[in-house]
Amino acid sequence: MRTGHETELRTDGDESSSKPPLEIGLVIAGRMDDARMQAVETMRDRLAGRLQRDFDQFRWVLRIVNRSETRLRRPGSVRVEPTELLEIGQTERESYRWDFIIVITQSDLRTHDKPFAMGIVARVQDAAILSTSRLDPEGVSATARPQDRGDLLATRLLALALHALGHLNGLAHMDDPHNIMYEPATPADLNTMASWTAEQKEDVAANLRLIADVRLEEQVDALRSSRLSFYLKGTWVNRHEIADAVLQAHPWEFPRRLARLTTAAFSTALILLMTAETWDLASSVSPGKLLILIVIALSVTTAFVTARQRLLVRRTRRLTEQTVVANVAVVAIVLSGMMTTFFGLLGTTLAFQVLVFRTSVVRTWAASLQEPWTFAHSLVVASFVAALGLVIGAFGASFEEYNYFRHVAFVDEET
Ligand SMILES: [Zn+2]
Repeated sequence: MRTGHETELRTDGDESSSKPPLEIGLVIAGRMDDARMQAVETMRDRLAGRLQRDFDQFRWVLRIVNRSETRLRRPGSVRVEPTELLEIGQTERESYRWDFIIVITQSDLRTHDKPFAMGIVARVQDAAILSTSRLDPEGVSATARPQDRGDLLATRLLALALHALGHLNGLAHMDDPHNIMYEPATPADLNTMASWTAEQKEDVAANLRLIADVRLEEQVDALRSSRLSFYLKGTWVNRHEIADAVLQAHPWEFPRRLARLTTAAFSTALILLMTAETWDLASSVSPGKLLILIVIALSVTTAFVTARQRLLVRRTRRLTEQTVVANVAVVAIVLSGMMTTFFGLLGTTLAFQVLVFRTSVVRTWAASLQEPWTFAHSLVVASFVAALGLVIGAFGASFEEYNYFRHVAFVDEET
């Protein structure tokens, strides 16, 4: 079964089976010792068996691709960056037609939200990362026999893989410590996470059915259509998946998580508010022009951040539906994040105006305004200031560390 760097396991040998196929690619990234490799293979076999038993309406294919030669760590850093591993997974996916990617590494994962992580879930990319670093009971009980060690590692990897697949298929956490969707706090918690409820199974099955549907790129007309119409069609067909991915990314937390962007945007807004010319200029802008200004500010910042942080998946080969989903989702995530920041700025500047600036002062600043000052004028000034603040803020975002922004955009959970 072993061919060079790859091993493949089909749970149903009959290729001509009428069951729709579902493929999971397990990518070994970076050096992995024999004991762990063995545990990964055991886990793959158990996972394949489990999925075939629980979701027998599909034909499961699980392939291990060994990329242990990949050099991960940059000199001096102990932990490996999850977004780097996601990229490795995406590169491999180009060669195969995988529905899910699970990247497995022996290195510890760098985290941004939690002190440590055993796994990472990235819904936009249908990908998960598992790290054996903290799962390996080696450090916990030195007296354990090697086979027990391997068995426990495989058990924990399996629980983590199922947990990730649960998230990738839209499941949320459960309080029951025996449930696969329990949120594990320690590696030992994984030992008991083994079951799903009938309802969870149904939800996963429903989502898998959508995924197993004939992929768009396999339809004859898709091959003939232009890039744009392929994108439009792909977006429409996957609109629910894209909406889910955006919700999972919590774009409303962007202002809090992207501190540099937010600081730059708010500082700009404050300075603009303290400038008389802003009031004079903004109060004479018509609502139509203001709307155009806001649309431009949101588009420019979204495009700038997406390009600058290299968030789009680029394909050297033909365009696939998965690429369309990943790219449209990430643009929607950034756009929603920008809109959150914009409305946050708008609300804050408006409140600041109403509370701090007396109308008599404002009136003298907006010198060229011929009519009496109303709330509508305050709203116009606040929108103007928020739009400009956002643009400057996006330049601030370019100072966010490269991997951090990608992390915010792609990673849904550190487990
Ligand atoms: Zn979780």
